Amino acid sequence: MPDISILHGNFICTPTPGQFKIDEDTFCILENGNIQDMTKTLPASLSSFPVIDLRPYIVIPAFSDVHVHAPHLPNAGIGLDEELLPWLNHYTFPLETKFAEMAFAERVYKMFIRKLWQCGTLHASVFATLHKKPTELLFSLFREAGLGAFIGKVNMDRNSIPGLTETTEESVAATEELIAESISSASDRVRYIMTPRFVPSTTERLMRKLGDLVEKYNLPVQSHLDENRNEVAWVKELHPQFQNYADVYDAFGLMPEGRTIMAHCIYLSDHEQELLREKKVLAAHCAMSNADLSSGIMPVRTYTQAGLRIALGSDVGGAEVFAMMRHITETIRVSKLYWVQHPESSPVTVPEAFYMATKASGTFFGKTGSFEPGYGFDALVIDDRSLDCGCSFSLNERLERFLYTGDDRQITVRYFKGKEVPEPFGTDVTR
Ligand SMILES: [Zn+2]
Repeated sequence: MPDISILHGNFICTPTPGQFKIDEDTFCILENGNIQDMTKTLPASLSSFPVIDLRPYIVIPAFSDVHVHAPHLPNAGIGLDEELLPWLNHYTFPLETKFAEMAFAERVYKMFIRKLWQCGTLHASVFATLHKKPTELLFSLFREAGLGAFIGKVNMDRNSIPGLTETTEESVAATEELIAESISSASDRVRYIMTPRFVPSTTERLMRKLGDLVEKYNLPVQSHLDENRNEVAWVKELHPQFQNYADVYDAFGLMPEGRTIMAHCIYLSDHEQELLREKKVLAAHCAMSNADLSSGIMPVRTYTQAGLRIALGSDVGGAEVFAMMRHITETIRVSKLYWVQHPESSPVTVPEAFYMATKASGTFFGKTGSFEPGYGFDALVIDDRSLDCGCSFSLNERLERFLYTGDDRQITVRYFKGKEVPEPFGTDVTR
């Protein structure tokens, strides 16, 4: 007997990048948590089923964040007058050493997951630290919360600080154990992703071994690429035999086709653009972090015209906020600054940026991020009456008001596969 539920409301999504699809006063019919139909008229065969009335609100797909660091929550907002490489050494690496202590890791990781829930980010691709036990804990906390995630233990066997080191052998062994545990848990919501921090942190020997594991277990990969000019120059210095940064990952099997997220990608050469397109890499655009750490502005229009796939990442703690609404508006804002400097370009539109934080980012996790038949009903109910000001805004305007001036207080219900997700961890965690 299929589990049928029916919701009646105003649904907004972006099945294609450039345009909102607005289903006003529409019935959304779910079967076993997946969207079966969106219809203006309820079929007579379903007339005996209860209908959840959401008409005063707007309903949007839940957000997916394709690049975020769970351990960096305590650093969000600290040290952001520094540039990437000094910031890593002064703030990020010292913070990550603290995750050797389980009680600290548990506290921060619970706060992190609650923060994602609060902001309506129901799927995320997450960097942990190099520590194995705390990473296991992060997996189990995500499963307990019922959110979707790819999680990876960070691999780094060079150029770190004392207290945050691992040998090549330790890194590989801990990673393979975590992969085995993730496979045996058989969770389709929380899965392992290979996570070399970035090329300067990983020796060629380690990258080769990680690439072997990627092939052996058919794993996805996440890392950083072409984020900052000094970082790009450093990679060139470390690996002069390679033509460019992306080639290093590719040479070691760390760019599996259709299963790779590369964060930032600001300075891609023509050759790298071609490689990323060929490998169907998802480029994680982290506009706020790129401004905060003086990294630069991704030329989004150039890349979309070249056929690259782009989705949004918060990159906390390179950025200070989790809310994907802010990352959507930041993406538009910085694209305008880029346009001023490059008049041949054109700014990112609201539906394009919304698409990057919902359907484009969702593709990495499965069928999430849109209201189309076959998609999981992963959605946010937005009670935006406090943003109304007595005006009769169109649904489109209401969404824009929410994205630019709203916050998590307007998100009243979060659905994952058609079921409400309760606030995780009860009173365990302080907000
Ligand atoms: Zn990052």
